[in-house]
Amino acid sequence: MSRSQSARSVAQPASAADAVAEARNVRREVMAEVFGAGEMRQGESRAEPVPAICNRSLMREIFTGGDCKSTARAISEIATLAGRALKSRHDMNPYLHFVSEYARFAKEGKAWPLGGFPRCPRPEVPADAPVALIFSPHPDDEVIIGGLALRLLREAKWNVINVAVTQGSNKVRQAGRWEELQACCDCIGFGLVQTVPGGLEKVNVATQEKDPAHWAASVKVIADILAKHRPKVILFPHDSDWNSSHIGTHHLVMDALHSLPADFCTTAVETEFWGAMASPNLMVEISTHDLADLITALTFHVGEVQRNPYHLTCPAWMMDNVRRGGELVGGQGGAVPDFTFATLYRLRRWNGRELGKAFEGGKNLPCEANPAGLFA
Ligand SMILES: [Zn+2]
Repeated sequence: MSRSQSARSVAQPASAADAVAEARNVRREVMAEVFGAGEMRQGESRAEPVPAICNRSLMREIFTGGDCKSTARAISEIATLAGRALKSRHDMNPYLHFVSEYARFAKEGKAWPLGGFPRCPRPEVPADAPVALIFSPHPDDEVIIGGLALRLLREAKWNVINVAVTQGSNKVRQAGRWEELQACCDCIGFGLVQTVPGGLEKVNVATQEKDPAHWAASVKVIADILAKHRPKVILFPHDSDWNSSHIGTHHLVMDALHSLPADFCTTAVETEFWGAMASPNLMVEISTHDLADLITALTFHVGEVQRNPYHLTCPAWMMDNVRRGGELVGGQGGAVPDFTFATLYRLRRWNGRELGKAFEGGKNLPCEANPAGLFA
C-alpha cells in the first residue's frame, strides 16, 4: 500500500487540537453505539467499557499529541480495535442493544405524527357478506382488540361494523371522540354504528342493579342493533375485563342476547384488554402489516393516545399475548406457535339460550389460515 493510499484511510488532522477532537468523536460514536444512542452524555463513563477504547498507549498518543501523522494512525488503529471489540461484544451479548432499541422506539415514538394518514387498503365487500359486529365500550377498543375483525374483513371479505357502545364518560369529549372514531374506522375499513347520540351512559354493573329502567332501555338499543344486522359473529369484552364500562358492555350484550327470540344464533367472541381472560381458547396471529394498520388507525384517537400511548405499547402487548396464549390456549407446557404478535379471544356459540362450547381445547389461527374457517 502506498503512502497516499494509507493517508486517505483516515483524514489527516490539521493540528493537535483537531486530532484530540477527532479522537473524542470516535470514542463518543463508539460508546454511543455500544451503550445506545442518546444514553451516553459527554463525560459519562461506564463501569465496564470496551477494552479497545481504553487502550492506554493509544489514547496517550492521541491526547498527548505527537506529530499529526502518528496521531492519525493512532485514531485509525483505535477505531479498528473498537470496531472489533464492538462486534465481538454484540456477538457475545446482544441484549443491551435489544433492550436499548425497544427503549429508543418507546421514547422517539411519542414524537411521531398521530392521525391524518391515508386509508388502509381494503377489499371489495359483497353486499350479502356475513356481518361481524364489534361492541366497543370506548372509542379505540375497536382497533386495539380488532385483529380478528380486521382479518375477517381482509381475508374473508366480511362486513365488519363497530358499534360505539359509549363515547366515553367525559361529556366535553364525547363529540370529539366520535369524530376521532369516525376517522379511525374510515382508515381501517370498519363500518360504524352509533348507539344513541353521545353514546350510551352509565354502562356498568351498578346501573344494571340500581337503575333497571335505564339499563333496560340500553339493552333494547343493543338488541335492536343485533336484530337489524343479524351478525354471524359478535365481539365484546369478557366479564372480568377490569374496566367498569368493559364489564358493563359484557353484561349489556349478554342481556340483549337473552332478550332476543330463541332462533337468534351467533358466535360470541369475547375480547380482553384491561383484564386478562382466565380461559381464552383462541389465539389469532396478527401479521406485521395488519398490526401496523391497526396502530395507524388507533392514532386517529389523538386525545386518547396522547393521554396513554396505547399505540406504542400495542406490539409489546401482542408479543406478551403470544407468551400467554402458548400456555393458556395451547395447553400448559405445550409447544408455543411461531407467532410474533397475537390477540387472545374466547370463542363460544350462542344457541339462542346460552353460550356453549364451539370446540374442544384451544385453537391457534396462523396468518396462513383463513379466519372464516373458525365460523364455518
Ligand atoms: Zn375501553
